[in-house]
Amino acid sequence: MEIKLMKNILGANDEIAAQNRKLFAARGVVVMNLMGSPGSGKTTLLEQTLTRLADKIKIAVIEGDLFTAKDAERIERAGVDVIQINTAGGCHLDAPMIQKVCASLDLPATDLLIVENVGNLVCPAEFDIGENFKAVVLSITEGDDKPLKYPLIFKESAATVLNKIDLLPFTNFNLPAAREDLTTLHPTIKIFETSCTNGAGLDAWTAWLLERTAR
Ligand code: MG
Ligand code: ZN
Repeated sequence: MEIKLMKNILGANDEIAAQNRKLFAARGVVVMNLMGSPGSGKTTLLEQTLTRLADKIKIAVIEGDLFTAKDAERIERAGVDVIQINTAGGCHLDAPMIQKVCASLDLPATDLLIVENVGNLVCPAEFDIGENFKAVVLSITEGDDKPLKYPLIFKESAATVLNKIDLLPFTNFNLPAAREDLTTLHPTIKIFETSCTNGAGLDAWTAWLLERTAR
């Protein structure tokens, strides 16, 4: 029973996701679904990304959050259009939620729409929201075992951002092992090593985003 219910939910979600994807393509917007654990640094990475790309492309942001608007307020300070979705405890964003808020965005004026998903390494990867590609932020302090423990999100993502790389000397995170696990799970995955504290790797990350947006 439960399996059938889950299939129906995903089927309905995929239908709306396909409608979202069609709308984004028609409006010329590239959409990234940004995922990762709570505390991995998604919002901070986003702030740094917006600052670096502000004079190059027009970015809009959808912020998924369980209860608050704290992240959306931070993004608003960066001077971009941001829409908050409160899931009221829901642990992921789905396609209907995105469809509902799209009317409030100036899509034709937007080059790149970044959706910060709810902090969670599990179900955000299961729900297509109509994005062009997914990316996952994994911070060094979370441990190098996460790719093998949560394989789906890394298989689904075009890129993994290994964030807080400046903290590497203070942890037992095995960087070569993590890179190998990621590549084993997903041979074509792009891996970035970033620090939003000292700026390491952010130029490579934003250059990649620009290239994906231009496609
Ligand atoms: Mg956040
Ligand atoms: Zn969920």
